Amino acid sequence: MNGADVFWLFQVLPHPDESLGHFLGRFRRANDLSRLGLAELLSVSGVMVRNWETPSRQRPPSSSELESLSNGIGVNRETLVQMLPPDSSQLHLGTRLCPVCYREVPIHRRAWQYASVERCERHQQSLRWQCPACGTSLRLPALWESGICEHCWLRFSEMTDERSANGRAQ
Ligand SMILES: [Zn+2]
Ligand SMILES: [Zn+2]
Repeated sequence: MNGADVFWLFQVLPHPDESLGHFLGRFRRANDLSRLGLAELLSVSGVMVRNWETPSRQRPPSSSELESLSNGIGVNRETLVQMLPPDSSQLHLGTRLCPVCYREVPIHRRAWQYASVERCERHQQSLRWQCPACGTSLRLPALWESGICEHCWLRFSEMTDERSANGRAQ
């Protein structure tokens, strides 16, 4: 092992609207890395990676951490900056999603992290923070591997407003 080991990493391209936490989860799974594994790769602490994947901790990467992240995972710094969560004054602490956006592209979008946003602007769907079938809260986007409720396995793409209005005319 030496300092040039980055070459064995699989490159993962971020979607322009993707949140940093979701992207880091995808990157780790593509490269079979735990949080600690990614931390070691970047020479940072495991707590740091956990913080970056957990916006509610309100410890996004600092300027120097962004530099390490950018060098380590091969995504340019400007792109990473665009994926950062909003400032703490605007941040919605719980994880949310629009089921129709997720059906189109299975990513967690940064736009859903704004506390002022209640509905998806494109689909007029309520942003979901829990499963409409069983009430389980959504997991951290970094852990969204299969796109289903971890308790009852309802697909994220099926968590629409129509579903909660069962029996009512659409
Ligand atoms: Zn949407
Ligand atoms: Zn459920």
